[in-house]
Amino acid sequence: VISKLPQTGTTIFTTMSALAAEYGAINLSQGFPDYNCSEELVELVNNAMRNGHNQYAPMAGLMALREQIAIKTEKLYGAVYNPDTEVTVTAGATQAIFTAISAVIHPNDEVIMFEPAYDCYAPAIKLMGGVVKSLQLEPPDYRIPWDMVKRLITNKTRMIILNSPHNPTGTILSKHDIDELTALVKNQDIFILSDEVYEHLVFDGNIHHSMARYPELQQRSLIVASFGKTFHATGWKLGYCIAPAYLMQEFRKIHQFLVFSVNTPVQYAIAEFLKDENHYLGLPDYFQQKRDYFNKGLEQSRFKLLPCSGTYFQSVTYNAISDEKDTDFAIHLTKEIGVAAIPVSVFYRNNTDRHILRFCFAKRQETLDKAVDRLSKV
Ligand code: PMP
Ligand code: GLN
Repeated sequence: VISKLPQTGTTIFTTMSALAAEYGAINLSQGFPDYNCSEELVELVNNAMRNGHNQYAPMAGLMALREQIAIKTEKLYGAVYNPDTEVTVTAGATQAIFTAISAVIHPNDEVIMFEPAYDCYAPAIKLMGGVVKSLQLEPPDYRIPWDMVKRLITNKTRMIILNSPHNPTGTILSKHDIDELTALVKNQDIFILSDEVYEHLVFDGNIHHSMARYPELQQRSLIVASFGKTFHATGWKLGYCIAPAYLMQEFRKIHQFLVFSVNTPVQYAIAEFLKDENHYLGLPDYFQQKRDYFNKGLEQSRFKLLPCSGTYFQSVTYNAISDEKDTDFAIHLTKEIGVAAIPVSVFYRNNTDRHILRFCFAKRQETLDKAVDRLSKV
C-alpha cells in the first residue's frame, strides 16, 4: 500500500502508556484520571442498559442529551444552539475533530494551527489533501503572535484551529486573543475549529473564552468538547460538536457514514447527569487543587515548573538535571525513575526540542505523592 501518511508513526500516548505499563512506572503521560468516575453516573449507565436502551441512538445523538448540551452552552456562554440542527454527539472529541476537518477542508486548502499542537489535527488535514500552516509558539507564555498569523493568511486559508485551554502547554486564550482573532477573520472565508475539551479546567479565577461567547466567531466555528474529560470517563469516548446549522449539515453528512451514531446508554446517562450543573461547575476548583498539590511537591525537585492556567497538564523543564533530548529523557524517566511523562517535542512538526515534559495531574493524591517522591530524587 502507498501510505497516505508516510510521516506519521504511532501516537505518543500509545507509546508512553505502553512503556509505563512495561516498566511498572507511574503513568503521568497519557491524560486520564486514575480514579473512578462518579458512582451516580455509573448507576445511570447501568439503569439505561437495564431499561433496554441498548440499540442505535439517533444519528445526531439522543435528543435529551443534545438539549442538555444546548442548555449548558447557553447558560455558560450565552449562545443559543438548536439541538435539532446544531448539536451532534460524537465518539469523543477525536471523532468530532476528524469529522469537522473532513467536512470543511478541500484539497489545497490551508489550515493555520499553533505548535505545540495536539497530535490528531495535522493527520486529518493531510488526509483531506489540506496544507498545514503552523506557527510555533514560545514558552513560557506561548502567546499567539497575531501579526505573524496575519501574514500566514492567503486566499487559500480555510480554517484556523484553536485549542483553549491548551494541551500540552496549559495556556488559555485571553480577551486580547479573541479581539485579534475577530479582526483577523472578519470578511474572510475562514472557519474556526475550536477544541474546547478542557473548557471546565480553567484556573486562578480566569474564564474560558469559548468561541460560543462571541457571535462573530461563533457563526464560523465548529466547537468540540469531550465528556471523557469533563466527567472523568475517557474510556467512554463520548463528546460532541456544536456549530451553526450550515456547518453542522456538512458535519453530519460525514458523521453518519463514519460512525452513524454513538454509544446509547452513556448518552442516556449523561443527559440526566448534565441536569445538575454542580457536576461540572466544581471542576476548576477540583483540578486547581490537584495542580497546586502536585506543583508544591515538584518545587522541591530540580524540575522547573512552567505556568499552567488550565487543562490537567503541568509542563516542566529539566535543564538542571539532564541535557538529553526530551524523547530520550522521557524514556529514561519511565525506565529508571518509574514516572512516565510526555515529551513535548512530539507536538511540533519538526520536533523542536525545548527540554520540556508534560505531566498529567488528574491523579489520586497518593499517586501524585509517589510520583513527586521519585521525581525529587532525580
Ligand atoms: N483534544 C485535546 C486537546 C485532547 O487533549 C484530547 C484528549 N482528550 C482530545 C481532543 C480527544 O478527546 P476524546 O478523548 O474525547 O476523543
Ligand atoms: N488527550 C489525551 C492526552 O493528551 C490523550 C488522548 C489519547 O490518548 N488519544 O494525554
